[in-house]
Amino acid sequence: MTQWVYCFGAGRNEGSAEMRNLLGGKGANLAEMASIGLPVPPGFTITTEVCTWYYQHERRYPADLEAQVKAGLKHIEAAVGTRFGDTHKPLLVSVRSGARVSMPGMMDTVLNLGLNDATVEGLVVASGDARFAWDSYRRFIQMYGSVVLGVDHHRFEEIIENVKLDTGKTEDTELTAPEWHRVADGYKEMVREATGRPFPQDPWEQLWGAVGAVFSSWQNQRAVTYRRLHDIPAEWGTAVNVQAMVFGNMGQDCATGVCFTRDPSTGENIFYGEYLINAQGEDVVAGIRTPQPMAQLKAKPGERSMEVAMPKAYAELVQVRQTLERHYRDMQDIEFTVQSNKLYMLQTRNGKRTAAASLKIAVDMAREGLIDHSEAVKRVNPAALDQLLHPTLDPKAARKVLAKGLPASPGAASGIVVFSADEAEARAQKGEAVILVRIETSPEDIHGMHAAKGVLTTRGGMTSHAAVVARGMGRPCVAGCGGISVDYNNQVLSSGGVQVRGGEVLTIDGSTGEVYVGSVAMIEPQLSGDFATLMEWADRVRRMKVRANAETPLDAETARKFGAEGIGLCRTEHMFFDPERIGAVRQMIMAETEAGRRVALARLLPFQRQDFVDLFRIMAGLPVTIRLLDPPLHEFLPHSEYEIAEVAQSLGANVDEMRRRAQELSEANPMLGHRGCRLGISFPEIYEMQARAIFEAACRIGKETHKAPHPEIMIPLVATHRELEITRAQIERVAQEVFAETGYHVEYSVGTMIELPRAALTADAIAESADFFSFGTNDLTQTTFGLSRDDAGKFLPLYVEKGIFPKDPFVSIDPEGVGALVRIAAEKGRRVKADIKLGICGEHGGDPSSIHFCESVGLDYVSCSPYRVPVARLAAAQAALMRR
Ligand code: PEP
Ligand code: MG
Repeated sequence: MTQWVYCFGAGRNEGSAEMRNLLGGKGANLAEMASIGLPVPPGFTITTEVCTWYYQHERRYPADLEAQVKAGLKHIEAAVGTRFGDTHKPLLVSVRSGARVSMPGMMDTVLNLGLNDATVEGLVVASGDARFAWDSYRRFIQMYGSVVLGVDHHRFEEIIENVKLDTGKTEDTELTAPEWHRVADGYKEMVREATGRPFPQDPWEQLWGAVGAVFSSWQNQRAVTYRRLHDIPAEWGTAVNVQAMVFGNMGQDCATGVCFTRDPSTGENIFYGEYLINAQGEDVVAGIRTPQPMAQLKAKPGERSMEVAMPKAYAELVQVRQTLERHYRDMQDIEFTVQSNKLYMLQTRNGKRTAAASLKIAVDMAREGLIDHSEAVKRVNPAALDQLLHPTLDPKAARKVLAKGLPASPGAASGIVVFSADEAEARAQKGEAVILVRIETSPEDIHGMHAAKGVLTTRGGMTSHAAVVARGMGRPCVAGCGGISVDYNNQVLSSGGVQVRGGEVLTIDGSTGEVYVGSVAMIEPQLSGDFATLMEWADRVRRMKVRANAETPLDAETARKFGAEGIGLCRTEHMFFDPERIGAVRQMIMAETEAGRRVALARLLPFQRQDFVDLFRIMAGLPVTIRLLDPPLHEFLPHSEYEIAEVAQSLGANVDEMRRRAQELSEANPMLGHRGCRLGISFPEIYEMQARAIFEAACRIGKETHKAPHPEIMIPLVATHRELEITRAQIERVAQEVFAETGYHVEYSVGTMIELPRAALTADAIAESADFFSFGTNDLTQTTFGLSRDDAGKFLPLYVEKGIFPKDPFVSIDPEGVGALVRIAAEKGRRVKADIKLGICGEHGGDPSSIHFCESVGLDYVSCSPYRVPVARLAAAQAALMRR
């Protein structure tokens, strides 16, 4: 025989917290609370399996359910000492839903069930309170009428309003017993008229009606939508909990409340919540009366805390709070009722909380000995941690949404709108806060992005230039905001008929992608002691190292401050845009001969050497991976006629000549064009100069500090092993030259990025010449999917919305395709060279679920933008704990 019904309370606890799949969260926790001795009104749970059965059998029940429900009700009757349907001392029950995970307010509930024209009289006598009894009866007819019988709830409200009008009263609380009696009669009359049948008087008919309504509510529109939004499978079903009623509305020594064992917004270890004297559960949420605080510490003038109003029940509740936290080892969200000064627990579950609260609660609980350090590390969501590292919009502040784009780099920023990088820089120098608005950004805009408080683009996806650079700099960024159009000529942006001119104020929220007109109040991040403590615990269990993608001294310093253990990607091209050196870069590009290029490169060498001296000094003793030049050369040349003329003049070059060269270098698909090691092979002098700069800097720091850095030189966009052999030989030659010239020697490694499918598939051959692999998963995603990083924004959101892609593959690694290539390359590489160092430096290196993937492949490190380093440290720790 299948057990469809599980009893709880009064010493008969057939369920437990572990049985949440079968009993639903509410049922499982009621049983658990009862079994640890907390005061739970007795009841029983009809399992989720009945719900599944019900839907598989045209909304009928298993044959043996009825007998089991009858037995369950007998258990309640025996425990409480009243009988269901008894006209003298009637038992009343509540009937509530309860799925595996909580779906607040999505399904139905019926209270005070068991009342009818006869039992209400019994309740009058038994409670000694006619007003209470008739109020309960009318509440029951109202709830049952709308939930089970489908009568529009407005029709009930109308009847109360009429009685109030007749009697000249304005508040529900002023109505007397005879007046509630009149309301109940009016309700029954109306229900008969609306449904064509009298209101059911038989308590058993009422019970089965309510059970059916709860099961049916599993498929109501609200619940279906909620499940879709939260990925809850329809097969799970809901349980039904039938429980003896306790009354918080039987007088001044009664109350009902909802509370959290700690403050869910700050995490503070204080009893937090609200209660109402002489009220039933729905009154607390309905907002008719103003609930009062639990703890006196939280009471404002004029408020009456439960601590003061009901000291005995409060003391008992404080005890329960401690028992629950000790037992569940987590912050609980609880519901309770006090009837005649006696406390009853109606629900407990792990409470939802803000990012800040989750950090504080995890650290506090570990300190209190409730959980261990590893558990604390597991409790904090790394994505939520990200919110704590950046300013956020004050949730209480008023705001007006203008448009929504992609949440490309977290944090919020307000400032005046500027449309060019130069203006951003000029205004920022004068101390103004600016938001740089561009259709899209290019490497030439870096100085403006750096100067701006935030960046907004109307095109591009999550790995577009703007997104990657903004994340690297820790600047909030909204990218791909297609709802906004930008008119550079007239210096105005517009969306849905609203215009914002250059110089007017805009606010962006890079965590949600929202853009607001005007400024919105912000909250500054608090990197309190708890943050540092949790990071320390995370670092103790982490296996993978965490490095940062950084090229400027400022980025490197930020990275170290956030705990980076080296640089995993220094994109050297970013160093070329500085106004002091871009001229030499362009001179190199314009040169027709190798000799001409060498002259220009000789001008660049001292700058580049100084870059590396600075980086090595900041990263003292830590590994630094330097990627040689990657992007196609046209990116360094001016594009508009005006800029071409200006640059030609400053270089002393011919305008036509410059235009011709720019045209010659332009490419239809630069991502697959003359870039990466292809440049290093066609123009070996470029990589030679870069290698020289690296070795000279390393030798200088080595001599100076007697702690020589260990540079890791990385070749981009390798597709075949020959490419790496050739470029490696160039680098080794330069190394020997520099060591001979300086009389100093440093250890170094040469490796490659794996960012093309061919490189992944032939990683064994490539490993012969590589000391390390770093997975460039931005390009690898792009080339595996055949999906352009900069153009995908036009349709990617639709693909995600339609479920064609489960997630944006530029944000979270695609484990089946791109991930398979990473796995293959890692295995092939290790087969040839067991100790080959493996890392990831694409944007995925800072994404928690991708970091779990990296742990599963056994990578040695992840590298991400400096501001994501703490997120990566925590995610790597969680991945390690999960793998154990
Ligand atoms: C990559 O392709 O993943 C990478 C890190 O290089 P970039 O983003 O500079 O192309
Ligand atoms: Mg790349």
